[in-house]
Amino acid sequence: MIPLRGGTGVNDSPLVPSSAPRSLGSRFLTGAGRAGIPKMPVNRTPVDQALIQAARSARIYAYAPYSNYAVGAAVRTDDGRIFTGCNVENASYSLSLCAERVALGSAIAAGARKIIAVAVCTADGGTPCGACRQTLLECALNPETCVVWVVKPDEIVQWYTLAELIPHGFRLQK
Ligand SMILES: [Zn+2]
Repeated sequence: MIPLRGGTGVNDSPLVPSSAPRSLGSRFLTGAGRAGIPKMPVNRTPVDQALIQAARSARIYAYAPYSNYAVGAAVRTDDGRIFTGCNVENASYSLSLCAERVALGSAIAAGARKIIAVAVCTADGGTPCGACRQTLLECALNPETCVVWVVKPDEIVQWYTLAELIPHGFRLQK
């Protein structure tokens, strides 16, 4: 989790519920990006409640008998659809699948190619692993504006842009 920057709260944003946590509000209200990372063109992003709820619901189906770390994920595609995934563990451990990549695979299998937002739900507000960040980058319409919501079952913890989560991701130069 990155350090939170300044901010005065969320009360002046009509797009954010007054119950939104302060940490979320500070992200909305600060225009400064992290060093070297262009900030989103808008600093008020509507909370994507449907996407977040989809990730929370998907987490219920997580198959995580080895780690007991259930994860639900949801991606919104550029045509507005939402696809979900949960982590799918395996006795071999290394064959386990992350929720984010399951969700992305579901979207691709349905004909989608680009995503514009992501939500990830865990018990402790964990962020996507490095492999998932790179995989999401592959399909992001614009990493600078692709919002990644990090949530718990009953709380929005934080949001990032995908560019913030993987600032120097691999891109095949054609
Ligand atoms: Zn992952």
